[in-house]
Amino acid sequence: MLDRLREIVQEVNSAKDLQSALDVIVSRVRAAMTTQVCSVYLLDTDISCHVLMASEGLRKESVGHVSLQLDEGLVGLVARNAEPVNLVDAQSHPNYHYLSETGEEQFSSFLGVPIIHHRKVLGVLVVQHQEKRSFDAGEEAFLITLSAQLAGVIAAAEATGAIQGTSPSGQRRSDTCFDGISGASGVAIGTAAVVFLQADLNLIPVRQADDIETEIADFNIALEAVREDIRQLSASVGHQLRPEERELFEVYLRMLDDDALGREVIELIRQGHWAQGALAEVAIDHVKSFEQMKDPYLRERAADIKDLCSRVLFYLQESEAATPREYPDNTILVGEELAPSMLMEVPREKLVGIISVKGSGNSHVAILARTMGIPTVMGAVDLPYRKLDGRLLIVDGYNGTVYSNPSEQLMVRYREVIKEEEQLVRGLEVLINLPCITPDDHRVRLWVNTGLMSDVVRSLDHGAEGIGLFRTEVPFLLSERFPSEDEQAAIYREQLQAFAPKKVTMRTLDVGGDKALPYFPIEEANPFLGWRGIRVTLDHPEIFIAQARAMLRASEGLNNLQIMLPMVSNLQEVHSAIQIIKRAFRELQEEGLEVMMPPIGVMIELPAAVYLTRALCQIVDFVSVGSNDLTQYLLAVDRNNPRVADLYSSFHPAVLYALQQVVDGAHAEGKQVSICGEMAGDPGAAILLMAMGFDILSMNASTLLRVKAVIRAMTLETAKSVLADVMQMTDAQSIRRCVDLALYNAGVDRLLRSSR
Ligand code: PEP
Ligand code: MG
Repeated sequence: MLDRLREIVQEVNSAKDLQSALDVIVSRVRAAMTTQVCSVYLLDTDISCHVLMASEGLRKESVGHVSLQLDEGLVGLVARNAEPVNLVDAQSHPNYHYLSETGEEQFSSFLGVPIIHHRKVLGVLVVQHQEKRSFDAGEEAFLITLSAQLAGVIAAAEATGAIQGTSPSGQRRSDTCFDGISGASGVAIGTAAVVFLQADLNLIPVRQADDIETEIADFNIALEAVREDIRQLSASVGHQLRPEERELFEVYLRMLDDDALGREVIELIRQGHWAQGALAEVAIDHVKSFEQMKDPYLRERAADIKDLCSRVLFYLQESEAATPREYPDNTILVGEELAPSMLMEVPREKLVGIISVKGSGNSHVAILARTMGIPTVMGAVDLPYRKLDGRLLIVDGYNGTVYSNPSEQLMVRYREVIKEEEQLVRGLEVLINLPCITPDDHRVRLWVNTGLMSDVVRSLDHGAEGIGLFRTEVPFLLSERFPSEDEQAAIYREQLQAFAPKKVTMRTLDVGGDKALPYFPIEEANPFLGWRGIRVTLDHPEIFIAQARAMLRASEGLNNLQIMLPMVSNLQEVHSAIQIIKRAFRELQEEGLEVMMPPIGVMIELPAAVYLTRALCQIVDFVSVGSNDLTQYLLAVDRNNPRVADLYSSFHPAVLYALQQVVDGAHAEGKQVSICGEMAGDPGAAILLMAMGFDILSMNASTLLRVKAVIRAMTLETAKSVLADVMQMTDAQSIRRCVDLALYNAGVDRLLRSSR
C-alpha cells in the first residue's frame, strides 16, 4: 500500500495543472482501491459550491457541470464536519442528494473523505461501489492518508489557477487573496519581480522571453560550454576509468544533443519562454519521470539530468549577470527566501513592497524591511510565486495578505489607505523636534536600530537621540567576503560621525541562526540553538579582534561608541569578550591612536541571561533586551516559522514578567537598561515598557514618531496602571486588547494600524 501511495503522490505531483492532477487522482485511486467510482469535488468559493471536478465511473458529461450547495448532499456533510463518511447504503441516508446527471443511482456504498490544507477544507474525495458493502478500516485509512498528501498539491495547483485569474471550476476570479504574516506595515501596489537563488532549477520563475532569438543563442552557447566541460573532463580523467564508466561521458553528451534535451528547450523558447525557464521546465519534467522509473539504474539517471541542466543553467546565469536586471517602477520584490543582498539590488526609489514565501514577522529580512519602511508580507506559503513575475499585486503589510488580479474597487480602496497613511506620517512630522515626554513630565529616550547608512540619515530626520543597536552584520551580509579591518572602520566611522556626540551602540558580529554569510556557511540541524552570535566570534578571535579594532579606530576623537555583545548565555563569554576588546584597545594605544575604552554592554536575549541580569550587570556597563530572540527562546517558537507565527507574541505574560525582572535587576545594580527588539517600536508595547522602567527604547526609525506621539499622549501614571492590570492577566490576547483600549482612551488608537 505504501508503495502505491508514493507512486500516486509522485504522479500527481508531476501533473502540469489542476485538471490533470485531479484526473490522475481519480483514475489511480479507483484502480488502487478496486472501486467502481472515484470522484473529486472541490469547493469553488466564487460560487459557494462543491463542484464535481473529476470522476472515473460517473458520467463524463457531468464533470465540471454539476455542483452541490455548501451543505448539500453527503459531500456537504463530509466538508462541514471535516470527517469521513462511510456508508453501506448511501441512498438511505437523510443527507443523500441525487444528482441525476451523474448516473450515480446505481452505486450504493459511499466513502467520502475531506481534503484539508492548512485547516481549510478544499473539497471531498469520494469512492463509490455498486455492491452494498462497507469500506473497511484499511481502505478508509488509505483514502485519508492519500487525501492528506494530495491536499498540498491540490492547493498549489488551485493557487496557480487563481493567479491566472480562474477559480477551480473556471469562473473568472479577481481579488485572489493569499495569506501570510505581516512583516512590515503599510500598503503597496506594484509589479512583481521574482528573484531567486542562482543555479537552483526549482526556483526559476516563469517569465516571457524579451527576444526569442537572443534567448536561443544564449542557450546554445551555454549548452556548448557544458559539452566542452564534459569533453575536457573526459580527456583529463578518462584514462583512470573503466570503459563502462567512460561511457557515461558519452551518455551525457548524447543527452545534451540537439535532438534530446536541447531540442525540447528550444521548442519551449520558441513558444515564448525565456531560456532559463524553458530549461528548468524541461529538466524538472525529465527528472520527475526518471525518478518514477522502476528500474534503479534509470532512476539514478534523474540525478545526472539535474546535474547537467544545473551546469547549463550556471552558464546561462553567468551570461545574464553581465547585464544587470532592470526593475520596473513600483517593484514588489517576491522570492522564496529573500536575502538582504536581494533587497539591495533594487534601486530604493523603485522598491515599494516585499513578499517572502518563507520566514516570519521577526525574520531578519522583515526587520530590514521595517528599517527601510517597505510594506512586507512574510510566510505567504501558498503563493505560487514562480508564476508571479510581471503581475500586478497588492501587498497589505498591515494584515499580512497579498492580492493578485485586483479589481478596480479593491485598487481604489487600497489607494485610499496609502493616501491616509501618507497624511498620518506628515501629521507626525511636527513631533520631530519635540521632546519625548509624558504629560506628567516623565522623559523617555527614543533611540534607533540601524544597519545601513541610509538608516542613519532617516533616523536623524526623525529626531533619534542615539543608536541603540547597530547591527554590524548587515554590511557583512552585503559583502562577498569578510570586510577588512580598514573597510569596517570606514563603515563604522560613518555611523559614529553622523550621530556624534549622540551615543552609537555597535553590536559585535551576530551571525548564525537565520543570518548566514554567503562566504561563511554554517550548516546545522538547529541553527537557532547552535553556533550563533558571540559563540561564533569567540571561536574566531581573528574576526572578533579585527572588528573590535575597527570599532575603536572609528571612534577616535568622537568617543561616542558603546560596544554590545549578542547571544550571551554565561559570564565566561562576557569575560572572554572583554579581554579581546581590551587587547584591541591596548594594541591601538601602542600604535599611537588616541582611543578611549568604550562602555561595554550585553544583550539579554536568552532566558539564562534574564536570570543572570544582576550578575551580568556587575561586570558590564549596561544591558539591552533583545526581545525578538528572548520571545523566541522563552516561548520555544521559531521566529522564522510561519506555522507557529500566531504563537509568537511579545505580549505573552511570560515575556512581560521576564522583562520586568531584567529592568529591576539592572536598576538594583545601578545600570542602564534598554530594549532594542521590535517590541520597542510597537506603540502599545512601548507604554508597557515605559511603565516597567526601561531607560531607552530603541526601534526602527519608521516607528519612532508614532511611539513618541503615544508617549506624549499618556501619563506615566496611566501607563503604570495599565501595566498593573496586564500583569494580572494570563494570556497575550487579553493583554493586547487591554493595551489597545488604553490607547483608544488616550485618543491615539489611529496610530495602531500602523504598528505591527
Ligand atoms: C533581538 O533579538 O531582539 C535583537 C534585537 O537582535 P536580532 O533581531 O538582530 O536578533
Ligand atoms: Mg537577537
